[in-house]
Amino acid sequence: RAKDSGRGVAAVFDDRMHREAEERRLLQEDLRAALDGDQLRLAYQPIIDIRAGAIVGFEALLRWQHPQRGLLSPDAFVPIAEESGLIEPIGAWVLKRACLDAAAWPKPIRVAVNISPAQFGSATLLSHVAQALAVSHLPADRLEVEITEALFMNQMAESGRFLADMRTLGIRIALDDFGTGFSSLGYLTRFPIQKLKIDRSFVSGPTDPENRKAVVEAIVGIAVSLGFVTTAEGVETAADLAWVRDLGCDQAQGYYFARTLSAESVPGFIAGFADEFGDGLGSQAAA
Ligand code: C2E
Ligand code: MG
Ligand code: MG
Ligand code: MG
Repeated sequence: RAKDSGRGVAAVFDDRMHREAEERRLLQEDLRAALDGDQLRLAYQPIIDIRAGAIVGFEALLRWQHPQRGLLSPDAFVPIAEESGLIEPIGAWVLKRACLDAAAWPKPIRVAVNISPAQFGSATLLSHVAQALAVSHLPADRLEVEITEALFMNQMAESGRFLADMRTLGIRIALDDFGTGFSSLGYLTRFPIQKLKIDRSFVSGPTDPENRKAVVEAIVGIAVSLGFVTTAEGVETAADLAWVRDLGCDQAQGYYFARTLSAESVPGFIAGFADEFGDGLGSQAAA
């Protein structure tokens, strides 16, 4: 009997694996069509200079308006894009769209684009970046790329060269989700990074606030010593903003300021920001 039920479990497991693989295959086919079919969108989230109370940039966040499944977030399809190699054309589209949108924003405001480690595997990345800047006429110093620590574990040699080339173009480099990776801190001095984005699990996560504050304080300490700008991710309330500001974070990003905006609503948000947050930023944070 034990043998029977064992086989039963294995069969169910097999069946589920099969269905999941089939599901991924279908989604991969759809994703191929999405690129040609105008189903990809960029949503924008503002990044705020806490001291100046001003918008410093917007992060581009990829969305897929799937004809049957509705609006999909990157976690649902970026892994499939990475596995299938589709991340290369999709990444090129993201860069171009983001630079075209940002070129229409008031001057110092930057755009931040997420680049997955899989994109660094290909020599076309740098030419896609250069093309996006060329067609949009966006000055290179208004483009920031966000990379993760995973890059240093998988693509060490190539990534070092790509990052140095990007820096030479004048592009800024931010390390995303900082504090959640497993790599050594040595890469902070080996790679030309300008910014640490402190992962939102330390800012508004469910764990003990005292521990989270200790981690943020330590990260700010590293950033100050090494000359990096810090952005606190996942700032959801005025209280979150107050303590990350008190610990010395330079910038903040999160639902407190805005969830995501369509490209069309970015100019209106910029125009209304000073009235909504500008004066209040210091006093709210201090209160
Ligand atoms: P990320 O770069 O760390 O982006 C921040 C994520 O946190 C976004 O989720 C954003 O909507 C969410 N978020 C922002 N503020 C808050 C907050 O206050 N509270 C909470 N709970 N969440 C907040 P999203 O848009 O689902 O993106 C998830 C991840 O997908 C991104 O993490 C990034 O790693 C990846 N991604 C997004 N766009 C692209 C892209 O164009 N290319 C690649 N390769 N990856 C992308
Ligand atoms: Mg990011
Ligand atoms: Mg992040
Ligand atoms: Mg993330």
